[in-house]
Amino acid sequence: MQLLDGKVTAQKIREELKNEVDTRKSKNEKTPHLVAVLVGDDGGSLTYVNAKVKACDQIGFDSSLIKYDDSVSEEELLSKVQELNNDDDIDGFIVQLPLPKHINELKVTQAIDPLKDVDGFHPENLGKMVLNLPSFLPATPAGILQLLKRNNIETSGKDCIVIGRSNIVGMPLSIMLARNADPGNCTVTLAHSRTKNLKEKVLNADIIIAAIGRPGFVTADMVKEGAVIVDVGTTRVADASKKNGWALKGDVAFDEVAPKCSYITPVPGGVGPMTIASLMINTLQSMELRGK
Ligand code: NAP
Repeated sequence: MQLLDGKVTAQKIREELKNEVDTRKSKNEKTPHLVAVLVGDDGGSLTYVNAKVKACDQIGFDSSLIKYDDSVSEEELLSKVQELNNDDDIDGFIVQLPLPKHINELKVTQAIDPLKDVDGFHPENLGKMVLNLPSFLPATPAGILQLLKRNNIETSGKDCIVIGRSNIVGMPLSIMLARNADPGNCTVTLAHSRTKNLKEKVLNADIIIAAIGRPGFVTADMVKEGAVIVDVGTTRVADASKKNGWALKGDVAFDEVAPKCSYITPVPGGVGPMTIASLMINTLQSMELRGK
């Protein structure tokens, strides 16, 4: 079994991006500017946003964090989105999800200029992704494809199961893996909570991607010898041995499953760092797309 180490792969991508930024700086060209908008004080969202801002600093991107109380109105948030759309210095921005219930997430996502939509959640970018046209790819699925590609994992002709069909992970990832592209050309099964005979379907897969949010859901008896496993799940579970009282757990029962696999991602340190790396790739791309 080999570990699919997202930390190492993401570090390599960060170094490549830093080199590009250093070259631009030496020619007095613009550096990418990413803005993150955070609403409310959810601990998980704050951790993700801080990690994105930190990654920008390490690479040499400009970054700004705009914070709102969770009582902010939809109108005020939409007005900020318009302001960011029109600000020529800002290359890309994200509105961290989830948003409070009184704000319509789809309305906010659709208000973002598709050319600055570095999260790749705008319907225009999702539509282009389906058609295999150049677009911003959603960060987590794009990070997973990079992880497979940079670790020379063959996807063409493989049977792949994606468990979980969220708009930000499972659904786009299933399409990206099925496209006539590299990585891609998989025969994909997209499973969800209504899927029948799930164990049988997972046992048939060469590549298993778990994006459910249920710690330890995929067990050794569901996995065939030599499978490649990507664990997207990150659930906080109580752990008295940790200083903060919790640990992040994946959707795969790592200790029992790992000996059966050819490759497996750890949690943490697998998909998480790759998600941030692909957001950085999108931000650099957004600046180039806008001719800056
Ligand atoms: P989500 O919106 O929470 O949805 C979960 C999906 O799992 C749904 O499609 C659901 O099916 C499916 N599901 C639930 N129980 C199931 C079962 N027993 N059998 C089969 N499918 C089942 O998904 P998400 O936002 O993609 O999050 C999934 C996990 O990934 C979470 O732990 C999240 O924290 C993590 N995540 C990690 C990253 C990262 O960068 N590492 C990024 C994003 C998300 P239905 O559609 O039928 O309800």
